[in-house]
Amino acid sequence: MNNTMRWDAARYVNEASFVPEMAASLVEVLAPQSGESVLDLGCGDGALTARIAAAGATVLGVDSSAEQLALAHARGLSVARQDAHALPYNARFHAVFSNAALHWMREPARVIEGVARALKPGGRFVAEMGGAGNIGAIVTALESGLRARGIDPAPLNPWYFPTPAAYARLLEDAGLVLRSLQYFERPTPFARDVGDWLSLMAVPFLAAVADPAKLVDEVRATAGRCGRLATGLRALALRRREARLMLTGGCLCGAVRYAVTVALQDVYFCHCAQCRKAQGSAYAASVPTPRAAFRLLEGEAQIKSFRASPHKRRWFCGECGSPIYSEVDEAPMLRLRAGSLDDSGTLTPVAHIFTDARPAWDEILDELPRYPGREPGR
Ligand SMILES: [Zn+2]
Ligand SMILES: [Zn+2]
Repeated sequence: MNNTMRWDAARYVNEASFVPEMAASLVEVLAPQSGESVLDLGCGDGALTARIAAAGATVLGVDSSAEQLALAHARGLSVARQDAHALPYNARFHAVFSNAALHWMREPARVIEGVARALKPGGRFVAEMGGAGNIGAIVTALESGLRARGIDPAPLNPWYFPTPAAYARLLEDAGLVLRSLQYFERPTPFARDVGDWLSLMAVPFLAAVADPAKLVDEVRATAGRCGRLATGLRALALRRREARLMLTGGCLCGAVRYAVTVALQDVYFCHCAQCRKAQGSAYAASVPTPRAAFRLLEGEAQIKSFRASPHKRRWFCGECGSPIYSEVDEAPMLRLRAGSLDDSGTLTPVAHIFTDARPAWDEILDELPRYPGREPGR
């Protein structure tokens, strides 16, 4: 909301009560759940914030207007005065909700960046705002009235009404994944007269001219008879779930536990004679893992190592015998045993190595690359 605008809060309830009324179903799209935390961005007087709270969610309403926040506070809602262009929240909310507020925010990229950051990974953004062409006849009449008086209307226009394509790009640039975007028309009568509406909503235009009453007459003559053709956007987008940066694993008996703090990906199947013996199986499934990202959490007393070759140690649990990893002295990468990870769903098989060492019964049935010795580049 433009800081130069002062809301006559009581009048806003009368003249603009259509705003929360028409948006009842946006709360249904949000579908707030008990126990969720929700940010209501541009909460105004809190009419919809209260409905979100009634669903059992913990909701914080933020707005730049102290007058509106006083009304929301009077409803017993949790509110904070906050510039939407500088949201201070980090992965705090399951959902960010915004109705009829985003089109008052003239630097939308900053707003959306703050929204994306405020969401927990996987959290949702549910919003409705004016779209391209919204109240177009009125804006055109206001702008030509100002130009006729020698005033450039562009810096006075308090509204941002994007096209669906522009808004989709904005959301995606901020790292949100668009799930749906509706662009709709909603013919809306004025509660009383266009003049009442203008004196509430178009303050920057009227304040810029010496004869505001005459400007209102001009707008009424050209655009005010037929009500407002409102054009809106309704968006649902999600914050990406980041690759999990904390993987854990351990041995069969649970004595040895470790954590890995990078995303792991590649799995190599080693068919060498040492791996066969060490695993008691056809091959070892190993994941190259930066040494610095591996941390032993438990089992310092239980974990044991064996040198089958002079420069390489194989680590395993001394209690249950589970192989954990192998390491070449001084090498930056460990070879974590893939089967010791608790959740290895992100791993991808890459290649078979030392395939020349296979016994006859070890038949490879997939199409992965096969190398007779080490993989190239190692
Ligand atoms: Zn063990
Ligand atoms: Zn091997």
